[in-house]
Amino acid sequence: MIHLKDAHIRFICGSQHLYGPGPLKVVAENAQQVAAALDGIASNPLPIKDGGVVTTRDEIEAALRDASSDDRCAGVIVWMHTFSPSKMWIRGLRDYRKPLLHLHTQANRDLPWDTIDMDFMNLNQAAHGDREFASLLTRMRRNRKSVVGHWSDEEVQNEIVTWVRAARAQHDLHGASFARFGDNMRHVGVTEGDKVAAEIRLGVSVEGYGLADLMEHVNAVSPAQVDALVDEYQGAYDVASELQPGGAQAGALRDGAAIELGLRSFLEAGGFKGFTTTFENLAGLKQLPGLAVQRLMADGYGFGAEGDWKTAVLLRGLKVAAEGMPGGTSFMEDYTYHLEPGRHRVLGSHMLEVCPSIAAERPRLEVHPLGIGDREDPVRLVFDAPAGDAINVSIMDLGNRLRLLVNEVEAVEVPDLPNLPVARALWECKPDFKTALKAWLEAGGAHHTVYSYDVKTALVEDLAHMLGIECVVIDANTDFRSFRSELQQSDAAYGSVDA
Ligand code: MN
Repeated sequence: MIHLKDAHIRFICGSQHLYGPGPLKVVAENAQQVAAALDGIASNPLPIKDGGVVTTRDEIEAALRDASSDDRCAGVIVWMHTFSPSKMWIRGLRDYRKPLLHLHTQANRDLPWDTIDMDFMNLNQAAHGDREFASLLTRMRRNRKSVVGHWSDEEVQNEIVTWVRAARAQHDLHGASFARFGDNMRHVGVTEGDKVAAEIRLGVSVEGYGLADLMEHVNAVSPAQVDALVDEYQGAYDVASELQPGGAQAGALRDGAAIELGLRSFLEAGGFKGFTTTFENLAGLKQLPGLAVQRLMADGYGFGAEGDWKTAVLLRGLKVAAEGMPGGTSFMEDYTYHLEPGRHRVLGSHMLEVCPSIAAERPRLEVHPLGIGDREDPVRLVFDAPAGDAINVSIMDLGNRLRLLVNEVEAVEVPDLPNLPVARALWECKPDFKTALKAWLEAGGAHHTVYSYDVKTALVEDLAHMLGIECVVIDANTDFRSFRSELQQSDAAYGSVDA
């Protein structure tokens, strides 16, 4: 994963001095034990550091200020092992703006029925200590994730890991820059958006460039660099015969390699975490970038076609969230339908730009004509995405807010498609095609999405919650009447706009 920031999570335990030094020592030991257990969860992607026990207003404020000011801290987990009067937390929480997880747990899983006494009761009092703390969070309208259950419980640990992954994505996007080559595809609405609002809300800067800026990097590529990259392609893909050295289209592969090297050089020089292209603005490029975009996505860059910077940002965020997971996450477009009664399916693809992280098999490297873009034949990776559970996520600018829309889908095996020379995925929507699409359309969902086998709905919900943006979900339980009602209530909550 390129440009991934160093990050960790702090674990802070709240208490007070009412109980004397003996119990506080036990509180500290228990907090260390819980922090170490969470840190050791096999699927946990970030270190979880014991941030100690805080017992006074000054200690609380100092601990949260330290978490805020440490660029590497991606979020804080808080637990009230004992009672910790919540007014002590006001000053600290007023200025703390990073993700917060409130773990409502207890050091002991089981009550020691035969020996329980008031000392035990006074030590293990999260049952009311955490309520006191949560009441203040609610009073302060503070976004957080509440996780309930014993810290060793697998469900609890999975919920925490999901949140840590979302926090890592939020942390990575904070301060990230995205490059746009050209503007939007002309006249297209859903890929537009308020870039100022996006920087305020998502923490990302979206910066425009002309193709001449990119061409400087493409033109600086040496033949030796192209030779080396073409060799790399030979090792990674099944390269079509016409692209082999001496083949009729060998030059197209070298042109594609030069575009990849130039694009990579530009993105590295600017420290960008994602980019967009548009086929309406390819001045100087011999081909629409296909292979280059696919390989850059596989390395972790966010991407959106036709100037779609919002999807580029979302793809980067979800790729970071899924880092280390096996399934893959890609830019996607709902392209065409199979409308056979009882077997409605969506064929997802794009002109060229689908990420090989979702390839079911070794991709084929091919070249074919492409009418769109009015350039020479572009090289591209062709493959099928596998069967399995997946999600499609769309991000829209509704004028007064950003909305994330999730549809849970079941990908099915792609049949042989001998005349379709692009990467593709095939899926069935939950709860069923007609309900899912009615809901998607009325929610204003885009045709571009992020498609992932790794990211689950709960993670998208956590990320939306910590970013303070709306998230609506279409899944196996979606009932269209309730869904539309949810959209209406949401408009009322955010305040509708006419335009
Ligand atoms: Mn498109």
